[in-house]
Amino acid sequence: MENIIITRTTKIDFFQFTKLLEFEDKLTHAIFLKNHNVGFNLLDNIEIRDKSIIVICKEFNINKNRIVQSHQTHSDNIKEYNEQSAIEKNVLKKYDGYICNRKDIATLITFADCIPIFIYDPKNNVYANIHSGWRGIVNQISIKAIKTLIKKYNSKASDLIVCIGPNIRKECFLVNKDLVDIYKIQFDEYIKKYPIIEETNIYNEKGKQYKIDNNLLLEVLLKENGILKNNIIDSEICTVCNSDDFHSRRAEGENFQKGGGLMMLK
Ligand SMILES: [Zn+2]
Repeated sequence: MENIIITRTTKIDFFQFTKLLEFEDKLTHAIFLKNHNVGFNLLDNIEIRDKSIIVICKEFNINKNRIVQSHQTHSDNIKEYNEQSAIEKNVLKKYDGYICNRKDIATLITFADCIPIFIYDPKNNVYANIHSGWRGIVNQISIKAIKTLIKKYNSKASDLIVCIGPNIRKECFLVNKDLVDIYKIQFDEYIKKYPIIEETNIYNEKGKQYKIDNNLLLEVLLKENGILKNNIIDSEICTVCNSDDFHSRRAEGENFQKGGGLMMLK
């Protein structure tokens, strides 16, 4: 795991991508582990979330009124914070990502098997902080963010660094055929070309189960959109296999908590 560096304190554990730490003077970022009862679910156990916000604000020197989090809905809606944006509330609705080039806002996305994706343009000092579950993959929210960065923020695809956080990996992502069919409609040409979908001999009440490699599909989509191989950095962590350290919906069941991904310009 040379792609990441883990820091453990008495109140919070987190990791950072070594590639993004090269820009430490301009960018703060962290993926939070679940230890010390840290979680960011806005719907259940809000006191855990509120306490966790206080802890991370202290650790990273953030004004707690300046940290934004959204009720994520697996949409492709991205909230932009630039010179023109008003900042009304710090709990938003229906956004699954942020684009930000301001220094007075910190953005937090949450995940529990879904993919946290950090995209950073060091030349224009602008980033996207994205939550993408399988619906986000199908909607291509990360590609939408990249296209917006290029169109509106002067970014070049070849300058963008894309860091992929902990998420449910192929070996743990068993799904039914109805989901495979959704992928086939959207990504048929890639599915034929790459081992994105694997048939298993496992059955449940709905029939045969399949494994989907969202991380491979994401990598293919990123490369198709001009992201350089060396600028795609994968934490390679599976949330289900590492559910001692990371919140996982599949591993924790109904009352699952959520991990957090923080980005902020300095
Ligand atoms: Zn796993």
